Amino acid sequence: MPWVFELHLPTLFLLTIGINALLGGLLAAIYYHRQKQLCFLYWAVSCGLFALGTAAAGASVLIAMPWLTLVLADILLVASPLLMIIGIRHFLQQPLTGAGPVSLALTIAAFIGTLLVWHSDPYTTRALTALMTAILFTVAATILHSIKLSPGIPIKLLRSFFSVHAALMAIQVVVMAWPDTLPDTVRILEAILISHILLATCTALTLPLLVSVQTEQALKALSERDELTQLFNRRALFHKATDCFMDAVKRNIPLTVLMIDIDHFKRVNDRWGHATGDMALRFVGEFLRLELRDEDIIGRIGGEEFTAVLPNTSRSQGQLIAQRLCEQLAQSGHKIGGQPLGLSISVGVAHRNTRHSEFKSILTDADAALYVAKNNGRNAISISDSELPADTALSMAKPANSQKMPS
Ligand code: GH3
Ligand code: MG
Ligand code: MG
Repeated sequence: MPWVFELHLPTLFLLTIGINALLGGLLAAIYYHRQKQLCFLYWAVSCGLFALGTAAAGASVLIAMPWLTLVLADILLVASPLLMIIGIRHFLQQPLTGAGPVSLALTIAAFIGTLLVWHSDPYTTRALTALMTAILFTVAATILHSIKLSPGIPIKLLRSFFSVHAALMAIQVVVMAWPDTLPDTVRILEAILISHILLATCTALTLPLLVSVQTEQALKALSERDELTQLFNRRALFHKATDCFMDAVKRNIPLTVLMIDIDHFKRVNDRWGHATGDMALRFVGEFLRLELRDEDIIGRIGGEEFTAVLPNTSRSQGQLIAQRLCEQLAQSGHKIGGQPLGLSISVGVAHRNTRHSEFKSILTDADAALYVAKNNGRNAISISDSELPADTALSMAKPANSQKMPS
C-alpha cells in the first residue's frame, strides 16, 4: 500500500533530540528550584538520555560503529524509561528501598552483558531492547494506577502513553524475533520507530503538566484545610456547604446541619496546657471524621467549634446522629493521651425547611440551638425547629448517659 506522506527521518531525529534536550533542561531547572524533589532530576536525566540515545542510534546512517549506534544507544534508550519510573516512585514518595536497587542493578548488568555478547546481531539486540522497554512501560503504567490526582488528565494521558508504548514495543519484539514472517518488515519497523520517538516525546511533555496539577492540588488542600485538624477551614466549609444547600433545594432532599462546640474548653487549656488543648482538638476532629460519612462536610469554623453538614439526612436522623456523637465523645473523650480531660460536646441541630433561603440561615438556627444546649447544662443536644412558633421553637434532648465535665 502506498504511503500517504513520507516523514523525513533525519529531521524527525533532530526534532526529537532537540525537544527532549529542551524538556530535560526545563525539568532540570524545576529541580534546581525544588531541590528536595528528586523526581525532577530523574526525569531531566531521563529526557537527556533519550536525546543522547536517539542521537547515537541515528548516527548509524553516518558511521559504522555498532558499539555506539547499537550497544550504547540501546543502553541509553532503556535507561531513559527506567529513570522515568524511578522518578515516578519519587513523585509518589515511594523511592526504591531494600532489595529493589540491588535486583535492579543485577538486571541492568545482565541486560548490558547480553547486549555486548550479541552486539554483532542487530535484530537480537533490538528485540531484547524492545522487550526490556515493553516491560518498563508496563511497570510505569501499573504504578500510575495508584495515583489519585484531580484533575486526572495528566495521569490518564501518561498511562495511555505508557500502555500504547508497551504494546508498540511488544510488537517490535515480535517483528525483530521473526523478521521473515512479515511482508514489509522495514516499513513496519520505521513506523514503530516514528511512533516510539513521538510517544517518548509526548510522555516527557506531560511531566511538567503532571507537576503543575500536583502543585495546584497541594496548594488547594493547603488553602482549604485547617492546619490542626485537617478538616475544612471556615471558608472552605461555607463554600462547600453553600453548594450542598443549593443541591438539596434543587433536588428537594433533606439536609441537616450540626453546630458542635467543646464544653468548657477554656478549662482544658487552663488546666492541661495549650499543647494538650491542641491534642484534644485533633482528637475531636478525627472523632468526627470517623463517626460521620464520607459525603458529610465537616469543618472547624472557630477555635473549638465544628460544623457538620449532612446531606440527605432527615430531622430525626440528624437528632439520632447528634445524640450518638454526644454520647460517644463523652465516653471516648474521657481520657485522651493518658490524661483525664473529661471532654464533652454540645450539639445544636437544624434541619432545612422552607424558611431557609441560604445555608447561613440554617447555620444561624443550629447556632441558636447550640446556645440552648449549652444553657441546658452542656454535654447535650438541642434541635431547632424554626417553622414552629417562637415559644416552642427549640426542643431539648439529653443523651442517655449524660456526663458533666469535672470542674
Ligand atoms: P463553653 O462550654 O461555653 O463553650 O466554654 P468554652 O470554655 O469551651 O468556651 P470559650 O469560648 O470560653 O473558650 C474557648 C477556648 O478555646 C478559649 C481558647 O483559648 C480555646 N482555643 C481556641 N482555639 C484554640 C486552639 O487552636 N488551640 C487551643 N489549645 N485552644 C484554643
Ligand atoms: Mg466551647
Ligand atoms: Mg465556642
